[in-house]
Amino acid sequence: MEIKEWIENLPEYIPGKTIEEIKIKYNLENVYKLASNENILGPAQEVEEAICNGAKTINYYPDSNCTKIKNKLSKKYKIPTENIILGNGTDQIIELVCNCLIGEIENIVISDPTFLIYEKAALKLGGKTIKVALKNYRQDVKSLVDNINKNTKILFLTSPHNPTGTIITKDEFEYILNNVAKDKLIVVDEAYYEYVVKEEQLDTVKYLKDFPNLLILRTFSKIYGLAGLRIGYGISNEKIIKALNKIRLPFNVNSIAQKAAAIALDNEDYVKNIRQDIIKEKEKFYNVFENSGIKYIKSYANFVLIKVGKNDKDISTDLLKSGFIVRPGSNLGLPGYIRVTVSLPEINKKFLKMLVKTYKN
Ligand code: PMP
Repeated sequence: MEIKEWIENLPEYIPGKTIEEIKIKYNLENVYKLASNENILGPAQEVEEAICNGAKTINYYPDSNCTKIKNKLSKKYKIPTENIILGNGTDQIIELVCNCLIGEIENIVISDPTFLIYEKAALKLGGKTIKVALKNYRQDVKSLVDNINKNTKILFLTSPHNPTGTIITKDEFEYILNNVAKDKLIVVDEAYYEYVVKEEQLDTVKYLKDFPNLLILRTFSKIYGLAGLRIGYGISNEKIIKALNKIRLPFNVNSIAQKAAAIALDNEDYVKNIRQDIIKEKEKFYNVFENSGIKYIKSYANFVLIKVGKNDKDISTDLLKSGFIVRPGSNLGLPGYIRVTVSLPEINKKFLKMLVKTYKN
């Protein structure tokens, strides 16, 4: 059996170690996962209850149309349900959109570094990637647009960006929309949108009526605390959503995820409180960094990129031995940095103390 060449050449996904594995390996009582930008508090109480209640009807297939959530999202964004697709995480929508548009001749344009899944989804189809270096830790919108060619099908943007935490401003976003041909799809991945200070949240949805080549991605994995259930959504014009729906598996979003997400959407206060807590905690991070001479990138998300020098892997291992799982920048295309999820005050305090100690050694 001959496996397609580009699949043979793809790197294997190496998942991070689990909390339990680290506890056993280093004989630790407490281990904190600060590597995947999850909301450590998990979902709101009533969402947790909906998850438990969901077990009672688990014998039935889920609603293939995700009707309840679509109706709520439709109300929230004042758009028809025909403009919305739900996915098994936004990861799945990224895959679906590449499946729709990318083949061996086509390419995607992405920043370098960026969230890994865009490239993976295109390479898997034999497609190509055009990578545009970040400029001062930010997506270089002019260069991204300039690098689009006749075979480009998708431009991927991420705001807040992963792994830097920087955002695309309104002017930059409008520059992109106005300078990219309408036959290229512009995907704006807003997985961390709800973490952005309210005054700087860009209303990307309002641009849909003038830009049918726009696809917005948001997720329940981050601020809503539902990463383990796998549910995210995309908003775009009817034609794109219809195409994505045609190729998705009929039951791509499980019934418990649907119930949980529908309830989660009712509690905007929960989102607001988490956002405020994280903003407050980030300030504490910055204070410690400034007092200790540690360089960092100001973040709009629930993680911070910290400059640690060329031995980011060693520092990550030292932190791991003390019970803190962080992501070395070398694994994210940013050697010399570590990316750390902002957590609860008491955990952050312990982490910062350990970081300063490790950094100074
Ligand atoms: N986009 C970005 C920028 C992310 O960081 C992540 C999660 N790491 C995702 C998308 C995937 O989110 P989901 O859990 O909805 O698949």
